Amino acid sequence: MPLTDKFGRAITDLRISVTDRCNYKCIYCRTGNEGALYGDLPFADYLRMARVLASLGIRKVRITGGEPLLRPGIADFIRELAQLRDVDGQPLDLALTTNGHLLAGLAQPLKDTGLGRVTVSMDAVDPDRFARITRVPGGYEKVLAGVRAARQAGLGPVKVNCVLMRGFNEDQIVPFGMFAREENVIVRFIEFMPLEEGRVWSPNTVVPLDEILQRMQEYRPLVEIPHAHSETARRYRFADGIGEIGIIAPVSHPFCGHCSRIRITCDGKIRTCLFSVWDHDLHELIERGASDAELADFIRSVVQKKEARHHIGEPDFVPASRTMVHIGG
Ligand code: SAM
Repeated sequence: MPLTDKFGRAITDLRISVTDRCNYKCIYCRTGNEGALYGDLPFADYLRMARVLASLGIRKVRITGGEPLLRPGIADFIRELAQLRDVDGQPLDLALTTNGHLLAGLAQPLKDTGLGRVTVSMDAVDPDRFARITRVPGGYEKVLAGVRAARQAGLGPVKVNCVLMRGFNEDQIVPFGMFAREENVIVRFIEFMPLEEGRVWSPNTVVPLDEILQRMQEYRPLVEIPHAHSETARRYRFADGIGEIGIIAPVSHPFCGHCSRIRITCDGKIRTCLFSVWDHDLHELIERGASDAELADFIRSVVQKKEARHHIGEPDFVPASRTMVHIGG
């Protein structure tokens, strides 16, 4: 029986955060603190969780953090993940999200593990602005080298995620359109969500899908590409056939109705929604010596508690019990 929640949504996508440490301190994400709040686990524990989840219906696994490339042994972990099979006996679709700072030297080794694709986060295509947003000097060149190395290694299509925040980087929309075309990557703009440590979000800080589209269309005409039901991004190609962009619009155009995701945090908790106000301790069961069957029963029961939708911007909105860097974006 596939893993399905009480609203009939099939749960096929898993995100595993392998650390909540990060070497960047992006202004829209972190307050600038150094430390991780939650300890991470031995890779063997994530691997066991992924194996049980794959036996229940998970087909896609995205490794994230914090910054996943900060963890020594990450390539060996992915190599082991690549050995797992889904319910149809197929390899899992493996992807990784990274800030790209350490990617240039790791792209080929990661490709060799069986990793399919990488998504690199970049919130400006200008070195000074990039440094102001990440609060790390000299990062832009490293990340650009990482993007190019990933493309070279065949970790593609390489996606570049840009979170837009009003007053910080909405003037980067068109430069990112040019970047997508020149670097042959898919740039995806993400609406800013209230998941930051500094609690600066307000509806006014969000640059909505319609505005992104309008600004990009003024640069060059776009044609919408039909997208799969479970895809979070609306996809567009430039009408001249060169370059693709996407827009992930959880605030202005929520897609909760076809959400297929669950997450495992770096300390082994299951989260059924980014905006959950509680999580479910899968690791504690492992610590207590639970069997795979017991883990599977627990996962099935947790999935039944998946929230119908988020309540961003509504009067009854309650902030999530963790911020993005401690959940795993
Ligand atoms: N360190 C990795 C990276 O930079 O991609 C993985 C973790 S990071 C938390 C994952 C993604 O979440 C990044 O693309 C980041 O820009 C995005 N993100 C962080 N805070 C966000 C927020 N409040 N709203 C929307 N996206 C956010």
